[in-house]
Amino acid sequence: MSEKWVNQLNRIAIIGGGITGLAAAYYAKEAGAHVTLIEAQDHLGGKIKTIYRDGFTLETGPDGYMARKPTLTSLITDLGLADQLVRSRTGTSYIYVRKQLRQMPAGSVMGIPTKFWPMVKTDLFTWRGKLRAGFDLVIPRVYAGEDISLDRFFRTRLGSEVVDTMIEPLLSGIYNGTLEDMSIESTFPQFITIEQKTRSLILGMKALTPPVQAGVKPSETGKFLSIEQGLGALVEALRPSIDRLMLKTLVQSVRPHEVTFADGTVEQFDGIILATSPQALGPLLGFPEAERLSSLKRTSSMTVLAAFDESDVDALDGTGYVIAKSEGNALTACSWMHKKWPHLAPKGKALLRMYIGSEHVPSLLHEEDDQIANFALSELRRIQKVGTPLFTKVERHIQTMPQYEVGHKQDVRAFEEALLKWDGVEACGAILHGVGLPDCVDSAKRAVDHLHLRQAVTV
Ligand SMILES: Cc1cc2nc3c(=O)[nH]c(=O)nc-3n(C[C@H](O)[C@H](O)[C@H](O)COP(=O)(O)OP(=O)(O)OC[C@H]3O[C@@H](n4cnc5c(N)ncnc54)[C@H](O)[C@@H]3O)c2cc1C
Repeated sequence: MSEKWVNQLNRIAIIGGGITGLAAAYYAKEAGAHVTLIEAQDHLGGKIKTIYRDGFTLETGPDGYMARKPTLTSLITDLGLADQLVRSRTGTSYIYVRKQLRQMPAGSVMGIPTKFWPMVKTDLFTWRGKLRAGFDLVIPRVYAGEDISLDRFFRTRLGSEVVDTMIEPLLSGIYNGTLEDMSIESTFPQFITIEQKTRSLILGMKALTPPVQAGVKPSETGKFLSIEQGLGALVEALRPSIDRLMLKTLVQSVRPHEVTFADGTVEQFDGIILATSPQALGPLLGFPEAERLSSLKRTSSMTVLAAFDESDVDALDGTGYVIAKSEGNALTACSWMHKKWPHLAPKGKALLRMYIGSEHVPSLLHEEDDQIANFALSELRRIQKVGTPLFTKVERHIQTMPQYEVGHKQDVRAFEEALLKWDGVEACGAILHGVGLPDCVDSAKRAVDHLHLRQAVTV
């Protein structure tokens, strides 16, 4: 976007103050707009929440982002925070299955085995399971141009044992969903590309995995980035892009160039960008395609952070583990945060983050935080030894994670086409083209560019 906005499109309302709305504020401000940001809660950041306590940095929502997606890193650099970027440590990852923490076979990428000997030697799978996974080398393509579930795709290619033991705990954790519901086109389209290209996933992933370079320590090759002060620092760095901040202000509905607030007042804007949580889209816009997106399944989870003296945690060398469903544990994963992100804990201390799966959330919802933390710790102690925590912090993520079900792409297309008829209104955020922080920033940038472009066409 080269030209600045002048006169015709300079009063922009952004609804929602999570990373999407804040990034939209930044790009709109950069383009010369006067930015009003309206947020229902009393603080900015949405799902991003960083708390500082006793020398620990507690990320209760997202803790980092995929380094290979460049837009967020560019934004952080533009904000002058590049020197604060930290890369995650890597190390052995584990899966808790058959009552034991077992190493993931070396060379597994997103649950797909790519190396022959580690797969042969691993105690994760039976011989039958390993042989079945090898069918991937010979069976024809599964994706035939129509969206299918991740479950169908992987089960056909690699067999049930590899899916249930390794792929399901790893991939479903990212969306906090189940593979049966998740659309391959909308969640992991890269697997379609690989299958189209090489037919075999194992061979395709192997070709994509760069060989380990001599002299590069594993700790230097982490796939995630974050900010040393915590992601809350990103929220603060974006705040000055807002000219007029309206916190604790709920928007009731949106029409072209018009925002109606919950108290009944109405205000006109040259452009409006919706960056709300998914469930708000339908009620705000009121047309069927928006209602459909809002009604998509959303899952809940709880995170429990627990701080310890390091000597009180019996942690292996690595960054944590996921838990196979077959174990019947209420936890789906546990990250050893002090190992993944050493900047989050003071020297000699440990920080664990436990994830309580969606099916256990309803029964815990009305419990006190202490009871939830004790429950999570008792589930954790079925897997690893830990002493008494220094403190715990519980965060409830209720109905927050949109599930990209089979057919989601078509729903998004229908919504975006319908929205084109709404002059001066754009939408962005986790419900559309990806839930990761970089995806949200990408969608915010697209929304601002689009608003600008549409205005340029009409003036
Ligand atoms: C536990 C958890 C861990 C995660 N971990 C990671 C991770 O490590 N890396 C990663 O990349 N992604 C992660 N994600 C996903 C990522 O955090 C989210 O997809 C992203 O933060 C969504 O940002 P957003 O701005 O679109 O939405 P939100 O953060 O939900 O912000 C939307 C805002 O809109 C406001 N709002 C809604 N309706 C209205 C209204 N009518 N009027 C005014 N305001 C309104 C809400 O109050 C909210 O503040 C995680 C998500 C969760 C839940």
